[in-house]
Amino acid sequence: MSMQTVVTDSPLEATGFLNRGGLVAFPTETVYGLGADVFNPGAVAGIFTAKGRPSDNPLIVHLQDPDRIGEVASEINTPARALIARFFPGPLTVVLRKNHSVPDIVSAGLPTVGVRCPSHPVAAEFLRHCRHPVAAPSANLSGRPSPTDWKAVFHDLGGRIDCLLRGEPSTIGLESTIVDCTADPPLLLRSGAIGLESLMEVVPDLELATSCTPGDAPKSPGMKYRHYSPEASIVLVEAPPHDLLQLPQAAWIGLSPPPEGAILGMACRSPEEYARVLFGFFRTCDAAGISTIWCELPPEEGIGRAIRDRLFKAAGN
Ligand code: AMP
Ligand code: MG
Repeated sequence: MSMQTVVTDSPLEATGFLNRGGLVAFPTETVYGLGADVFNPGAVAGIFTAKGRPSDNPLIVHLQDPDRIGEVASEINTPARALIARFFPGPLTVVLRKNHSVPDIVSAGLPTVGVRCPSHPVAAEFLRHCRHPVAAPSANLSGRPSPTDWKAVFHDLGGRIDCLLRGEPSTIGLESTIVDCTADPPLLLRSGAIGLESLMEVVPDLELATSCTPGDAPKSPGMKYRHYSPEASIVLVEAPPHDLLQLPQAAWIGLSPPPEGAILGMACRSPEEYARVLFGFFRTCDAAGISTIWCELPPEEGIGRAIRDRLFKAAGN
């Protein structure tokens, strides 16, 4: 598969490709997405091919206007209504019962659909001009860290997609929080920048999906796949070791300063900065031929829960 990928700064030009059935990568506040017209099953199939994504992993549908959610969902129940009122537009996906017009390839055959309205101004401008809602997973090759800047998208998907809408690096750096509102009580399927504590102010009976435990059936199809992985192996620690045990080619990322012996080191000033730089750091380490990345686990609160989740998955847990 090889085609010319047009790189543009114009949301309107990118919309043209999408409305003609093309694949368009676009910036959002979480990570870059790879979009296709939700009502064009052939175009959506192209997303799975371009990414090498398993076909039983559903896509999130993106819209600019929350008032248009009815184009893909058949019902917006009470918890969904409360979450949408409080957190849309923003880094939250709600899973709702899908409407019959949503092709099976989008929902991977599930009776539900994930919906999100990004707050990113370039994403909003792009989506506003698209004729239909846009099905979009992260714009990386399947299994690789999600792209948080346009160069990472080009590295993975250049020559495999029609257009790349270029923008600033993503300000959050981790994928959206996902809440399944069709479950009773609602279930947190994936942690993100909107933390459990904030969600529970709106949906007090929210529960954590426990399906990441080996042996349990996954509650969300995406949970069963290896994710976010750099080439290097990952070592997780609760606190920095004195030195990196003489391991050659070792890198460090965390809230604490790098231990002695780190070839590449990143000390983040806050959990928010940690989230923003994590996936880019993984890619930098791969480009530098790092063999081991030591990662400090942040406290399990706010966005820290999401960072821990991505670190565990990157380490293969
Ligand atoms: P990505 O943002 O690229 O990781 O892809 C979207 C993820 O959202 C998938 O891997 C699923 O885990 C989740 N997802 C999307 N739609 C649904 C749905 N209808 N039900 C449950 N999970 C979903
Ligand atoms: Mg992804």
